Amino acid sequence: MSTIQWFPGHMAKAKREAIEKLKLVDIVIELLDARIPYSSRNPMIDEIVGEKKRLVVLNKVDLADDKLTKEWVSYFKERSIDILTISAKDGKGLKQIQEKLKDMMSEKFEKLRAKGLKSRPIRLMILGIPNVGKSTLINRFIKKNKAVTGNKPGVTKGQQWLKLGTEFELLDTPGILWPKFEDESIGKKLALTGAIKDTILQLEDVSLFAIDFFARYYPESFKKSFGLTQENLDLPNAELLMYMTERMGLKDDYDKANEKIIFDIRSGKLGGYTLDHVSDMLLEEEDM
Ligand code: GDP
Repeated sequence: MSTIQWFPGHMAKAKREAIEKLKLVDIVIELLDARIPYSSRNPMIDEIVGEKKRLVVLNKVDLADDKLTKEWVSYFKERSIDILTISAKDGKGLKQIQEKLKDMMSEKFEKLRAKGLKSRPIRLMILGIPNVGKSTLINRFIKKNKAVTGNKPGVTKGQQWLKLGTEFELLDTPGILWPKFEDESIGKKLALTGAIKDTILQLEDVSLFAIDFFARYYPESFKKSFGLTQENLDLPNAELLMYMTERMGLKDDYDKANEKIIFDIRSGKLGGYTLDHVSDMLLEEEDM
């Protein structure tokens, strides 16, 4: 779990560093959490990425709601944004990423060839908020490609390129950006998925949010996992939490109950779930 605390100075530095790295690459992979494709996006991402080619990758699809993942993919596609879904942990979707990246560069390389120049490896970097799976993805790429690290002149000190076969070069350290902090429900979504440390928010606030969300959107798996009835779900959230605590045999140890509820949901024990809905985004776009 990341321990980064974001203060304005850190944000400015992270932004500056990301922009510096972006200068070195052909394509940036913007890694998002498939369970929160909106909340896991950095608020300044468009400004930071600018005109650079970008591939949005929704990671952790193994934990997300398949139906909503499809809706999110359509959402990005409709806005002409290149998008893929992966599960970096088990290496699913990696091949498609490489194919897509080649596809995105084909026009440029075609032009080079037409001028009699050889195409070169595609230079990449990975960018995203903490805990979205950047290191896991980099390690996956390395395993798949038996990467060799090499120093290259002209590269920021300490920065190395991982050579992925002959076709790709990946910056070995990802760009780390801060998450959205603008509203409380985003904070709770980030906490529930494990993107930010539990201690930043009150455990109980996160757990009450989870109870409310799952009772509304995933009532069947929620009931089944915690042995609840529809009547229980109709209780006010705080009362439901009390009831669940008792049912779990935890008497009045609410801290333990909150921890267990959050842990079970976070780890996928209740099945795939997605906390951001495309419909919320569409409402927001209408407001703009
Ligand atoms: P980083 O901070 O962006 O580099 O994130 P990490 O690569 O350290 O990953 C954060 C946590 O998410 C780790 O516990 C990973 O094992 C987990 N993780 C990464 N990718 C996936 C995935 O596709 N599925 C699941 N279930 N967990 C993942």
